[in-house]
Amino acid sequence: MPTIRLDRLVKRYGSVEVLHGINLEMADNEFTVFVGPSGCGKSTTLRMIAGLEDVSDGEIYVDEKPVSHLEPKDRDLAMVFQDYALYPHMNVARNMSFALRLAKRPAAEIDRKVREVADILGLTDYLRRKPGELSGGQRQRVAMGRALVRDTGIFLLDEPLSNLDAKLRARMRTELAEMRARINKNFIYVTHDQVEAMTLGDRIVVMSEGHIQQQGSPEELFTNPVNQFVAGFIGSPAMNFLDGELAEEAGAIWVKGDGYQLPLPADQSARIGHVATARSVRLGMRPSSASIDAASGAPIDLTVVVAEYLGAQSVLVTRCGGAEVLVEVPSAAGRMHAGETHRFGVRTEEIMVFDRASGLRL
Ligand code: ADP
Ligand code: MG
Repeated sequence: MPTIRLDRLVKRYGSVEVLHGINLEMADNEFTVFVGPSGCGKSTTLRMIAGLEDVSDGEIYVDEKPVSHLEPKDRDLAMVFQDYALYPHMNVARNMSFALRLAKRPAAEIDRKVREVADILGLTDYLRRKPGELSGGQRQRVAMGRALVRDTGIFLLDEPLSNLDAKLRARMRTELAEMRARINKNFIYVTHDQVEAMTLGDRIVVMSEGHIQQQGSPEELFTNPVNQFVAGFIGSPAMNFLDGELAEEAGAIWVKGDGYQLPLPADQSARIGHVATARSVRLGMRPSSASIDAASGAPIDLTVVVAEYLGAQSVLVTRCGGAEVLVEVPSAAGRMHAGETHRFGVRTEEIMVFDRASGLRL
């Protein structure tokens, strides 16, 4: 499997720089996901790797060979786009074999490849159908099949599921996760959806405004985000942020704000060291870190604004001082009503503090 390395990759459109020096190494046989809000530069990065956009500065290496001067067809990769325009007059088999027929591969090889890939994608029974006779999810699979039949080691996908409705998207996500185990290729997958990123990626690259904010496994990004952006982007419902100040009392460091005060866990206190004067921070607390069992952690009083019943879980929208705080609770614990104030227990080992000015995690 070829490995890809991006070295100080820069993209400018005219005088506007949209990618500011991306460094990235992708390991062998890895599923890498680029995730970030719309406009952060995910597609641009992918299109530069594919050879559809010029490189303004820096270099792309495939197996340590620079490729930025190569035409797309001379790079060892295949790409699936968000709008997977299929040829409407060709049946599934002919859509899938298009590139192979163009490359004048022998008929027996084309037939074998199409059958192999159709089998992986569950399209065997549909090979004679035209795209118009397929569901959205099946059309999406044909678009993938068209890329998979080509003998490339790198497979690029740009928001391939975003044209599907929510239910189908969830199913295709599961199918993709299953499928990738059977396909020996490097994947680079672009999405703005952090749930897709978390469920599919071996490694997630979080981007914002033309910079990589952090890369790591889903667990690393969730438990150890480097800054407030990543902490707020990864995880659903999103992390709560409350303005506060750090203060040292009796050898422990506390984070205090409007309506709360919580002790920092020992490892974080040790990392921060001494707090001589109060320091402006932002407390980060995930909705899953507070429990209705007040005795299970450090106490915090929250006033319920709305209780959103989701089935087994409910999400409480609460207020703490002036801030809104979401809390996830098991619905079996009983309904909570708007206006009630309850004492919750915070697992302080899960809270984080960020510098208020820079957003960096302390
Ligand atoms: P994403 O895929 O993360 O949503 P893009 O990579 O498409 O973002 O875009 C990154 C930035 O580059 C955006 O600010 C976008 O407006 C800009 N951009 C993309 N394509 C062009 C173009 N052809 N000309 C000028 N600016 C562009
Ligand atoms: Mg895009």
